[in-house]
Amino acid sequence: MKKPILPDDVAFLLQTLNENGHEAYIVGGCVRDSILRRAPQDWDITTSALPEETAALFPRTFDTGIQHGTITVVLHKTNYEITTYRIDGKYADCRHPDSVSFTRDLTEDLLRRDFTMNAIAYHPGEGFRDPFGGQGDIAAGLIRGVGDPALRFQEDALRMLRCVRFAAQLGFQVEENTYAALCANTALIQKISVERIREELEKLWRAPYREKMSLLWESGLLAQIDPALARRLTARAGKLPEELAQCGQDSVLRWCVVLQDYTPKEAETFLNGMKFDRATLRRVCLLLERIAEDAPAEPYPMRKLAGEIGEEAVFQLLALQRILRPDSAHEESGRVLREILASGDCLTLKTLAITGKDLMKMGVPAGKEIGRILDILLDMVQREPARNTREMLAAEAERMIKD
Ligand code: ATP
Ligand code: MG
Repeated sequence: MKKPILPDDVAFLLQTLNENGHEAYIVGGCVRDSILRRAPQDWDITTSALPEETAALFPRTFDTGIQHGTITVVLHKTNYEITTYRIDGKYADCRHPDSVSFTRDLTEDLLRRDFTMNAIAYHPGEGFRDPFGGQGDIAAGLIRGVGDPALRFQEDALRMLRCVRFAAQLGFQVEENTYAALCANTALIQKISVERIREELEKLWRAPYREKMSLLWESGLLAQIDPALARRLTARAGKLPEELAQCGQDSVLRWCVVLQDYTPKEAETFLNGMKFDRATLRRVCLLLERIAEDAPAEPYPMRKLAGEIGEEAVFQLLALQRILRPDSAHEESGRVLREILASGDCLTLKTLAITGKDLMKMGVPAGKEIGRILDILLDMVQREPARNTREMLAAEAERMIKD
């Protein structure tokens, strides 16, 4: 079993707590990931010290969730969360414990954690503390609830989504009883806030073991989150993972792929329901609206399109076209767009060589007429970029004013 190699700062935190009479271990994701030879994202510490005892030991700390026993310690500009051993009280809302109490017993703290692989503590001097067989489950590639999985999902329904997401991130199987408990409790996911659901889905869409993604709908979990989406993804299950894999780092593209057979209106309703930010919502809807048609492969319409929706959106449109319609002329379109950008062609009024002010000086009254003339000039320049000079545009404007 691979032992975690602690960064110096983490070793220092444990040592400082120990020297002051407290137990302290690294715990959770960092232990799991170390065993799996994956780089931990962050190093969480669990300790017998009470929050105020922890805070007193380090010069730079702030309260992250003092009611949950977490103190954040800042060392060399990195934040480390140090949480007091804790027992969670009853969960009335299927997400948050009504109360938490502190304990001096590590095993009780590990008991409140979701899966055995996440309930392992480690100390460089003492080795692993693993009362629930987490190391064995990691070796077997199994996600197993700590204790009675049904109870654990009932306490906090978000754990069901975490379970599916971990399966797809790590390529693990969900242990049989844990999976049965998950399938039996899917309705509880409705108690979880859409923001948390959205975060987990985002992580799931980009998880590497994509074949595991189908657990989301096979378990019935997605049908409880959004029945229409569940029907659509089930129907498209064969292709979806591969399509998502082609989205690179772009989360907007991933949502477009997920919602590909939604009308823009349906997508808007869905994205609003999931409380997406306006920018993402608008962009996903714009792309879905445009994806029905192939992007142009000729310079003039491409300049118009890039001027209208912006080059970033056009690149996304082309990426989406490549994923959903690989046989279309997306490569040609991409080449044309890159050439246009490289030659610095004027695409919008911002870079047109004449402005509304110039037109007013030429005698055009302020108002609609200015906009109309500028639009005609822009169109002309999009057709023939070489005409974007002040002289040529002024002459053209003169002609229009006289007509
Ligand atoms: P990652 O950060 O890669 O998503 P992680 O396991 O570190 O995975 P975190 O959300 O950072 O997950 O939580 C840290 C630890 O806290 C977990 O490993 C687990 O022990 C515990 N934990 C987190 N969320 C829950 C939960 N909903 N129920 C029970 N324990 C949890
Ligand atoms: Mg983590």
